[in-house]
Amino acid sequence: MQTAVPNSGRSSEPVPSDPIVGIDLGTTNSLVAFCFASGPRVLGGGAGGAMVPSVVRFLADGSTVVGAAARATRLAHADETVASAKRLMGRSARETASFARGGSTPLVEGPRGMAALAVHGRVVTPQEVAAEVLRELRRIAEADLGVPVRRAVITVPAYFDDAQRQATRDAARLADLEAVRIVNEPTAASLAYGIGQAARAERIAVYDLGGGTFDVTILDIVPSDGGGTGADCFQVLSTAGDTALGGDDLDRAIAAHWLAGESGLVDDDATRAALLAAAEEAKIALSERASIEVEAMCTGGARRVALDRAELDRLAEPLVARTMAACRRALADAQTTVDEIDRVVLVGGSTRLSAVRAAVRAFFGREPYVALDPDRVVALGASVQAAIVAGGRRDLLLLDVIPLSLGIETVGGAIAKLIMRNSPIPARAVEHFSTSKDGQTSVRIHVLQGERELAEHCRSLGTFDLRGLPPMPAGIPQVEVSFLVDQNGVLSVSAREKRSGCEAAIQVVPSYGLTAEEVDRIEKESIENARADMTLHRIIDLRVHSELDLKWIGEALARVRGQLDPAYIVALEGAMSEVRGLCERAASDPRSVDADLFHRAKQSLDERSMRVHETAIAQSLRGAGT
Ligand code: ADP
Ligand code: MG
Repeated sequence: MQTAVPNSGRSSEPVPSDPIVGIDLGTTNSLVAFCFASGPRVLGGGAGGAMVPSVVRFLADGSTVVGAAARATRLAHADETVASAKRLMGRSARETASFARGGSTPLVEGPRGMAALAVHGRVVTPQEVAAEVLRELRRIAEADLGVPVRRAVITVPAYFDDAQRQATRDAARLADLEAVRIVNEPTAASLAYGIGQAARAERIAVYDLGGGTFDVTILDIVPSDGGGTGADCFQVLSTAGDTALGGDDLDRAIAAHWLAGESGLVDDDATRAALLAAAEEAKIALSERASIEVEAMCTGGARRVALDRAELDRLAEPLVARTMAACRRALADAQTTVDEIDRVVLVGGSTRLSAVRAAVRAFFGREPYVALDPDRVVALGASVQAAIVAGGRRDLLLLDVIPLSLGIETVGGAIAKLIMRNSPIPARAVEHFSTSKDGQTSVRIHVLQGERELAEHCRSLGTFDLRGLPPMPAGIPQVEVSFLVDQNGVLSVSAREKRSGCEAAIQVVPSYGLTAEEVDRIEKESIENARADMTLHRIIDLRVHSELDLKWIGEALARVRGQLDPAYIVALEGAMSEVRGLCERAASDPRSVDADLFHRAKQSLDERSMRVHETAIAQSLRGAGT
């Protein structure tokens, strides 16, 4: 049994006194995560947690620099900087002689013929390099959690053999960490999505494209009695990939594209290094925008180089094609077909490339899991496994019903609930919405979770924009919003405008960030506020509908004013101004408005406006007839 202590670190949630963290010890980047009662979170840094580049600089005086600082100076200090040491872990010097690595420290034969590096005349084993990274992660975890960290679940590629796994354990020991479990990276990614917690049979393909390696793994969940036990439920059917294929290759292709296309560039080491750095910067920026211009400090001065999404897609094409060939091999080796794959999980920073997502979607014929950050998902899953080992929240992700209602924000700040709490999982719902302004060409979809009636009282799960609507009058576009919660509790929301066919989507894991206590509190609050909330929701709806009514009445009146009895116009305008006044008050302080009075005022305006609408319709029919 573990005791929870109030922690002195950054975390606001209780932390056990001897926590087990989850570590993704990557070729390019490493991270540490912990599974709190509210779900897993990457530790350190800002909101997203710290990503530590797996780069270590060994100085002549015996000290080391780890992470971003070592990466930044790796070219200036190439002879004492080690990157991508993971490629050498547990391998013999002979088999690794031809391996590509980030640094240029010479490869030597270490103890028992194993691969090692020579730095300042000293033999440095890959385990020692990994231990430096692990020590840095432990420091980050201790600062965040506020307690000493001595145990970890560490992930390795599924294809790692016993020697490579043992080398990883040894690295942990050097860093004063006990590796309580070594878990396959694709298994960890699956666990992060809640797959395997409930021991339902599923066949999963994990596509992992990192900085310098690519691998695809086909996994089965082996249903066991008594619920899921984490990684033990997973059986690897096959892996395929390429240990020399990744985002770095794309950076090189972009740099080569610039070298070939830009005039006056001196093709030397300094320029190539500057272009490589600029290439990665541009590539990452293009996930958020269509084109980008970045600065590269080339020989002879700073240069601005440009790249757009179409060029990036074209340059990524050969790389993506090679990964698809590996997917085909993995399926064949597992003696399975695309139709038998239930889930596709994307892992690795390079899967943010739209070209990669499109190719994976097309190959597997389904939307891959992308709700969790692809370069953090392995660490998150490692921490879920750690929580299971610690005997803590085994039920964390075990969902049979939807704990809180799911919906979207509507005009005026109310919530339209599409899936009600306690609905069995999987659940699906579709609803139609429209625009509130004339000529509106985009709609923002704000996905919410909660039991209250106003968006501001609900938990925001994310937003996305449906863009490219053809301009139409308010209320005419038909936006179909669909919610799907699958059996792992992953929510996919998509919005589609029917006439134009434009589409947009988002994926989230609604249970992350929620504790059982919070669900109870939210439920209690919704009961306490039910009556007031309903009234507010009603006032907001009255306001939104009345504003549209006023607009339509105003337009009709402008067209046929001359054909109407002046006394009728006076009465109509009186009713309009009464409703307009109520709308204004409802907009500034909805609590000050009497809902019944508002309802009666709107009803009386509806009745009175009948004549102006009829006259306008008659006129347009006459117009159409002649
Ligand atoms: P590894 O598992 O090998 O340690 P990561 O999963 O951290 O690697 O992936 C690192 C790679 O992801 C780098 O090549 C980096 O340039 C790439 N990357 C990160 N963000 C993006 C992005 N938005 N678009 C394309 N590539 C990206
Ligand atoms: Mg990785």
